Amino acid sequence: MFLRELTQDLRILKGTGPATLRALANLDVHTVADLLLHLPRDYEDKTRIVPISRFSEGKVYTTAQVLRHEWFGFGRMRTLKIVVADSSSEAALLCFNRPFLEQMAPVGSTVQIYGKFQFKYGEIQSSAFEIQRVDGALNLKPNLEINLEIKPEIALSPLYSLSERLNQMALRRMVGLALSKFAPHIEDELPPTLRASHGFPPKSEALRAIHFPSSWEAATRAHDMLAYEELFYFQLGIALRIRSRRARVIERKPCPGVLARQLRERLTYALTEDQESVLKEIVEDMHKPYPMARLLQGDVGSGKTIVAILAALHAVERGGQVAIMAPTELLARQHATIAAHLVEPLGVRLAFVTGSISNAARPPLLAALKDGEIDIAIGTHALFSEDVSFKNLELVIIDEQQRFGVLQRIALYKKGHIPDFLMMTATPIPRSLALTFFGDLQVSTIQHLPPGRKPVVTHLAHEDRRRTVYEFTREKLKEGRQAYFVYPVISGSERHDLRDAESMASHLAKDVFPEFKVGLLHSRLADEVKMEVMTKFAAGEISILVATTVVEVGVDVPNATVMVIEHAERFGLSALHQLRGRIGRSSHQGYCFLVYSKDLTEEGRLRLKALYETTDGFAIAEEDLKIRGPGDMLGIEQSGDLRLRIADMRTDFELLKKARHDAFGIIESDPSLSGPDHEVIRQVLTRANPFSEK
Ligand code: ADP
Ligand code: MG
Repeated sequence: MFLRELTQDLRILKGTGPATLRALANLDVHTVADLLLHLPRDYEDKTRIVPISRFSEGKVYTTAQVLRHEWFGFGRMRTLKIVVADSSSEAALLCFNRPFLEQMAPVGSTVQIYGKFQFKYGEIQSSAFEIQRVDGALNLKPNLEINLEIKPEIALSPLYSLSERLNQMALRRMVGLALSKFAPHIEDELPPTLRASHGFPPKSEALRAIHFPSSWEAATRAHDMLAYEELFYFQLGIALRIRSRRARVIERKPCPGVLARQLRERLTYALTEDQESVLKEIVEDMHKPYPMARLLQGDVGSGKTIVAILAALHAVERGGQVAIMAPTELLARQHATIAAHLVEPLGVRLAFVTGSISNAARPPLLAALKDGEIDIAIGTHALFSEDVSFKNLELVIIDEQQRFGVLQRIALYKKGHIPDFLMMTATPIPRSLALTFFGDLQVSTIQHLPPGRKPVVTHLAHEDRRRTVYEFTREKLKEGRQAYFVYPVISGSERHDLRDAESMASHLAKDVFPEFKVGLLHSRLADEVKMEVMTKFAAGEISILVATTVVEVGVDVPNATVMVIEHAERFGLSALHQLRGRIGRSSHQGYCFLVYSKDLTEEGRLRLKALYETTDGFAIAEEDLKIRGPGDMLGIEQSGDLRLRIADMRTDFELLKKARHDAFGIIESDPSLSGPDHEVIRQVLTRANPFSEK
């Protein structure tokens, strides 16, 4: 039996009542397999009793009496405070969102406490603690583990994520039951030689050890085994996907690169070394007998657009069509304008395709695409709507692919007819994600910006210092530069506690910068209005552009050198980095002001700090991964298919590399997985592997 085949309902574990089942269902734990995969988030280390008075040495682990209950805060925010004391000291337990502890730890009861404490507001207190009543009132057996003479093999107890009313004790009991009933039947999913070569324990043993380890080492070993197995199958799925893509044979027509050469002659600058080398990689791919799947990453302003256009010309020259897709209409139009300027003189036929094309214009446009009268179509996702078809689509280029999300990309693949595929991103992808969620792509990187760019100077400004920011901006505007002011919401009706783009646009125009022209840009404006504002800003007719994050990606107005972001703490790290990338695009010095308000969360503070400390997009991406985690970063949190349950992208990078190496090695040496040692892999793939091709 494979672990995931343990689909029995949890009622099979005797003594499990409906309340517990409901609480578990809230945690998305429904079956025995779910329960065994509900891994501890930490362990309680009872080898050492730490009384309250020694809280500064690490986590407190002690037995205490409940002295009294107090409440603080008002209304719905009322919070319970349980005051306890052990033989060393008194301490306060702040029960945020846990009012039910009132009943579970009544005054006078004896409790076991585990958690991190600190000295604050004149008392020793904790808001992150485990509490367990130990004087029998809960109808649980007295906890033997409280005994100081702890047997070494039960030194660590699992600490699970809980939902309301579920307690550690109940969960431990259930997991223990499930393990004793099912663990002996759980089969290994890794080939035996592979497991042996890494010195991993069998899976059944690893499962026992991850829940009830005999030591920290045993817990780590168990985690490594399970995480490796998960990553191995994830990588195997990728290797198989690459294999099937490469099985498709494309007949390539010759392409001497005449058009591209003609364009290069018209450019006012020379390509950088990095641009040359990524272009070479792309063009080489376009000569291989199977479709390209490449990701071009390069920080904001590194010059990806021209590389994409040159690649497109190679496809056009041999009679193919190219689709260039951008996430916003604004950016698509900017690309179309640039491309028209560059390639129409060479006789290349362009079209602009978005959802807002009028009904009258649509049929002839679609017909032209279908008949091959258009060489390059530039647009939004409307390029891939049902009614659009191409005569000979050879190359698809997706700009700012991070805005489309991993799931949309995979959906596009599944349409099946994607020929050469080039994705571009200005949000560098952390190494671990490059090997997993983007692991089927070849990656090209532009490391260095074109010469002459100065790094943007970043200032953190408390909102009280807003005046200074305005005065600084005024100086730059007087010198002929332009500025962006970005706000988190469009209008005051959304959030009255935040500054919004609409009211700030009129405030800035009337009260602050009456001598300059101010424009407003946000997603709810009509397309013509957006275009008009953008054109005026690009032409320098507007000095200040007040906007929301619509200007986040792609917008290229080199004369704009000041970026003011209000409520900066509310934006994500990559959004801030992208916004900052709008400036510093010329030889004039760029300045970015991150204006923050007083109620700054810890996470918000970390983001601003990261942005302040570096302008290196790669470092920022790694930091973003640490703060947010991969699910949130890639927008796949809700996607069971892609979620890794055991491995942690932030800490398991070495395991990931091993797993990738092993999986790719196996597919290379035994493409049909027919070797006797690979029997188990065949079994896993046929008996429902979440990461395999569906
Ligand atoms: P991104 O990689 O963010 O898409 P763009 O392609 O918009 O960057 O390029 C940013 C700016 O740099 C554009 O104005 C472009 O014309 C300019 N540029 C691109 N390549 C070079 C180069 N080799 N030398 C000088 N300027 C360049
Ligand atoms: Mg770009």
